[in-house]
Amino acid sequence: MNAGAHRPLMQDAATPHWIVPVYHRMRALSFVYALVLVGLYLYDGAYSTPYWLCAVLQFTVYPHLLYWRACRAVDSQRAELNNLLLDIGLWGLWAAALGFPRWISFTLFIASAINSAISGGNRGLLIALGVYGGGIGVGLALFGLQPGPAESQWVAGLCMLGLTGYLWGIGALSFRRTQSLRRIRGELIQSQQDLQAANEAMRVRLAEIEGLQHHLESQANRDPLTGLFNRRYLEATTERELARGRREQIPVALLLLDLDHFKSVNDRFGHAVGDEVLRQFGALLHQGTRREDVPCRLGGEEFVLLLPGMSSAHALARGEQIRQMVEALTVASPQGEVRTTISIGVSCFPGQGEHLEDLIKCADLALYAVKRSGRNGVRAYGAELGKALPA
Ligand code: GH3
Ligand code: MG
Ligand code: MG
Repeated sequence: MNAGAHRPLMQDAATPHWIVPVYHRMRALSFVYALVLVGLYLYDGAYSTPYWLCAVLQFTVYPHLLYWRACRAVDSQRAELNNLLLDIGLWGLWAAALGFPRWISFTLFIASAINSAISGGNRGLLIALGVYGGGIGVGLALFGLQPGPAESQWVAGLCMLGLTGYLWGIGALSFRRTQSLRRIRGELIQSQQDLQAANEAMRVRLAEIEGLQHHLESQANRDPLTGLFNRRYLEATTERELARGRREQIPVALLLLDLDHFKSVNDRFGHAVGDEVLRQFGALLHQGTRREDVPCRLGGEEFVLLLPGMSSAHALARGEQIRQMVEALTVASPQGEVRTTISIGVSCFPGQGEHLEDLIKCADLALYAVKRSGRNGVRAYGAELGKALPA
């Protein structure tokens, strides 16, 4: 009989615990062996038919009845452990019924005890002892104490062989379990390493993304030709610096710078050379800036240098310094050296506006005055330059 033959019985019940089919197979096989063993003993001792009948029922039908019962149980694992106890009790009963043949009693007891110890440890062993003793008690009550005939060499040999096979089976099973535990442990270590590698890759990727984000942010604030800040950044920063100036009562100066006759540079030397002049002027403007200064390209050949904490007089001096540097600047080109000059208008908070727009307007008026008076100069905004400021 095999597990497949019982499938219809299991259809209405939940799938039994894995221990149930495993024990069923073990029991079905080992009981056939036990039948041969006990049968030989019964034959040697010329036991009567009821003994034979009980032996056949016990060793062929009983294992499948237990399986059937466990499959139908609500807690199939518990039922299987109870089956184990029933086995042990019956072994005790058989030992008493056969008159305690030494090899058979010992073999049945040892096999039961090991089984019980495997499933329940020392406590299982004690329970096995108790139940085996209980089986003996029942056997003695039913059959009385009557020593059986001595076992033949064959029975003793079969007992030895059976025990050896049983122990070998347990050893092989333990070996397989250890191997499988080792494999699982190896797989776990491997997965842990994979996870660590994935984490590391993710960390690197995050750093790259952060770097890119940083780069994008700085690109959004920079003019691509000169690398100076752009108008967008200037607007955001100036509002912040003016608020700080108001709070801490410090001045904020603004220089508006425009290259003179730049159109003619393009016309004479070409647009590419014009670009190079803009680049070099950008570098020059960047030179000598303090950490808080904000050099920007407003667009075309117009620039702004925002100078937080700087008074109008100091800003004028700074403008003059820049003017001289531009005058001295020479840019090489295939058509010869390019020279240019710059006009600069200066405005200052407080007094000449509360917003960037106002400061640029004032600086633009000063710049316009420089352009009108011949270019290549620096001038601060003054009331005489006209236009009233917005309130
Ligand atoms: P002014 O002294 O009155 O300022 O004269 P200008 O020629 O400098 O001023 P205008 O506004 O007439 O011309 C500015 C020129 O700047 C026109 C344009 O071709 C040039 N320009 C604007 N942006 C760029 C640029 O990105 N690269 C180059 N090469 N030239 C530019
Ligand atoms: Mg211009
Ligand atoms: Mg110009």
